[in-house]
Amino acid sequence: MSRIVMKFGGTSVATTERIRIVAARVAREVKAGHEVAVVVSAMAGETNKLVAYVDEVANGYGLLHDYSEYDSIVASGEIVTAGLTALALQGLGLKSRSWQGWQIPIRTDLAHGKARIDEINGELLIEAMEEGVIPVIAGFQGVNQLDRVATLGRGGSDTSAVAIAAAINADRCDIFTDVDGVYTADPRIVPKARKLQQITYEEMLELASVGAKVLQTRSVEMAMKHQVRVQVLSSFEDKPGTMMVEEEEMMEHELVSGITSDRNEAKVTLLELADRPGVAAGVFGPLNDANINVDMIVQNISVDGKTTDMTFTVPRIELARTLALFETQKTKLGYKAIQTDGNVAKVSVVGVGMRSHAGVALTMFQALGKESINILVISTSEIKISVLIEEKYTELAVRALHSAYGLDAQ
Ligand code: ADP
Ligand code: ASP
Ligand code: MG
Repeated sequence: MSRIVMKFGGTSVATTERIRIVAARVAREVKAGHEVAVVVSAMAGETNKLVAYVDEVANGYGLLHDYSEYDSIVASGEIVTAGLTALALQGLGLKSRSWQGWQIPIRTDLAHGKARIDEINGELLIEAMEEGVIPVIAGFQGVNQLDRVATLGRGGSDTSAVAIAAAINADRCDIFTDVDGVYTADPRIVPKARKLQQITYEEMLELASVGAKVLQTRSVEMAMKHQVRVQVLSSFEDKPGTMMVEEEEMMEHELVSGITSDRNEAKVTLLELADRPGVAAGVFGPLNDANINVDMIVQNISVDGKTTDMTFTVPRIELARTLALFETQKTKLGYKAIQTDGNVAKVSVVGVGMRSHAGVALTMFQALGKESINILVISTSEIKISVLIEEKYTELAVRALHSAYGLDAQ
């Protein structure tokens, strides 16, 4: 007997019919003798609808929304699917009940809208399972130190599932979604993408953090930290999925395991900044204080020894705030002008094979050059190379790179 967490994403529970199918999938594992805890997302599209309601009401008064109310509203989507899934399981003759984040409790920090899980008490869930009751937990939500409902950031039900798997000491966490595993690229962009049987935690972490939304980045961090075995598989088809493994367990290593793109960033350049010690801290300090995350950074060599240009990327939704912030810092920083570009995309190549092979970056630059795609910014880590390009070339770049690294399915 194993103890398994089964997590179902939005498309997997998109309708009451789909919820009945999911319940039957859970029942199969229970009948095979396993102990199961279920985590569900809101029905597909539901969270977007709730976010839009929040904006409509708040904007109607010219207000930015209050994040604690935002959280209590958007968390409601998962409450509905958890209850419906418990009902469907009962309909199949099984014992089941739903749990909201605060009832467990799943304790989070105070960062509304993107809270981190601090602690989960798994006792009540374990007790329920030992009594033969299947707990169905509303994903994406917890309760903070002030007893307010908190949500974990978009895509956060993945993180709920992995965190619960760690808390109840599960043997495995299965993430059921609308694709049958992790692919070498988003199969919606690259029809020739191949399914990976296995992927290392480290590669999955890099892929998620550079835009492969199949798993929320924090869920992978959590799995690494607590050594949770995670599998990504389809709730629509009965097929083996992709298993996250340690590097030593990997049966064969590819040079590159995946290509991703991310259109959520914008490029900002401060021109002719006074070049003196402390200039970078002067630029990035205020961004940090305003809680605006910076990703890629390039600073030009100062030719005359007096000025330098600084280019960096910020989340696209923070572009207006970034501009307003630098307006107030103009005299202090002494820059001549600010340029911004919201029509950019970051394309990344990830693979542990890069550690031991030279020439991986060159292949990327040559493949993009051949398609006449200009590179605006480059950044690298040990197992990843990212480039910023014009947004209109995103799909072309991802497909060209997929072929250049020999990843295309036959
Ligand atoms: P869920 O609602 O089940 O959480 P998501 O929409 O969050 O599902 O994640 C699944 C989607 O992730 C897929 O439909 C696919 O388009 C996208 N995706 C992006 N990159 C990849 C990848 N490398 N492999 C598989 N899916 C990917
Ligand atoms: N329903 C939430 C979202 O759409 C959480 C999730 O699906 O993981 O972001
Ligand atoms: Mg998701």
